[in-house]
Amino acid sequence: MHATSAIDYRMLARELRGGNRRALAKAITLVESTLAEHHVLAQEVLAEVLPHTGNTIRIGISGVPGVGKSTFIEALGLFLIARGHRLAVLAVDPSSSVSGGSILGDKTRMELLCRKEDAFIRPSPAAGSLGGVAEKTREAMLLCEAAGFDVIIVETVGVGQSEIAVAGMTDVFVLLQLPNAGDDLQAIKKGIVELADLIVFNKADIDPVAAQAAVSQMRSALTMLRPTSPHWQPPVLTLSAIKKEGLAEFWQTVEKFRDVMTATGELEARRKRQASDWMWQQIDAALRQRFRAHPSIRAALPEITRAVAAGTLPSSLAARQLLALFT
Ligand code: GDP
Repeated sequence: MHATSAIDYRMLARELRGGNRRALAKAITLVESTLAEHHVLAQEVLAEVLPHTGNTIRIGISGVPGVGKSTFIEALGLFLIARGHRLAVLAVDPSSSVSGGSILGDKTRMELLCRKEDAFIRPSPAAGSLGGVAEKTREAMLLCEAAGFDVIIVETVGVGQSEIAVAGMTDVFVLLQLPNAGDDLQAIKKGIVELADLIVFNKADIDPVAAQAAVSQMRSALTMLRPTSPHWQPPVLTLSAIKKEGLAEFWQTVEKFRDVMTATGELEARRKRQASDWMWQQIDAALRQRFRAHPSIRAALPEITRAVAAGTLPSSLAARQLLALFT
C-alpha cells in the first residue's frame, strides 16, 4: 500500500462508489489494517459512504465444516447473478483469530464464482479477537454495499460465538445442517438453532428419506424454541447444493422473509438495534482496554486477582476496588 498521506479518502470513496473493485479492496484493506493511521482513514471512508449503504439484503450463513457452505454459496451466487444481482461474500472465521489457521479462508473455494465480475469474495480478516474480526467484516460489508453489491453473504462456521456475531450484522440468519442423526442436536445444544431465521438441510440428494425425517424432527424441535420474530416461524427446507436443487425455493423464502420483516417494520428495527449494539461493543472493548492499561490498575491487578482466586476477597468487592482506582 502507498504511504498513508498519499491516500485521498474522498477519492477512494468516490471510486468505490463507482464500483471500482480495486478501490473496494483497498478500502477493505484499510479497515482490516492494524495501523492507527489506516484506522482513521478507514473511518473517514466509511463515514463518506455510509449514506449509500443499506439498500441490500444481508444473509448470514452458518454450518459446520463440510456441510457444503462453499458449494451452496457458489451455486446460489451463480443463480443470483443470472438474475441480475451482484453478490459479495464475506466471512467471519473464528479459527483464524485463535490459531492463525483458517477453516473458511481457503482461496481455492468457489472458483467459478470468483471469476464473475458481479461477485466479490473476500476471506475472513485473520488477526485479532473474534469481536475485532467480526467488526472488520461488518465494515467490509458496508463498503461492499456502497460499491453496489445488493446481496451480501456473511459466512461462518458452526461453533457458537461467531454465529452470534454474524446474526448481529445480517438481516436473515441461515443455518445449514446435515441430515445426519445428532447434527441437529449439536446445533440446538450450542444455541445456534435459536438464532436461525431459516434452517436448510443440505445434501438431501444422498438420502432423501433421511432428509425429510430430519426436516420433521427439526420442525418439531423448533416448536419448543422461541422464534426470532413474532411474525416469522423459521421454515425448514431441504437442498442439494451440488445438484443445484432447492435454490429457487431458498431464494423465494429469503425474499418472503424480507417482505414480511419490511412490512412489519422489523427489518429496520433490527438494523437499528444492530448498529447501536456494535457501537456499544466498541465502547466496551475500548473501555476495557483503557482500564487494563491504566497505571493504578496495572499495579493493583496482580494482587487483587490472586486474592479473588484464593477466595480471600469477594469478586464484587474486588471489582469495586479496581473501579475506584480507575475513576
Ligand atoms: P464447507 O466446508 O461447508 O464449505 O463444505 P464444502 O462446500 O466444501 O463441501 C464439502 C463436501 O461436501 C464437498 O466434497 C462437496 O462436494 C460436498 N457437497 C456439498 N454439497 C453437497 C450436496 O448437496 N450433496 C452432496 N452429495 N455433496 C455435497
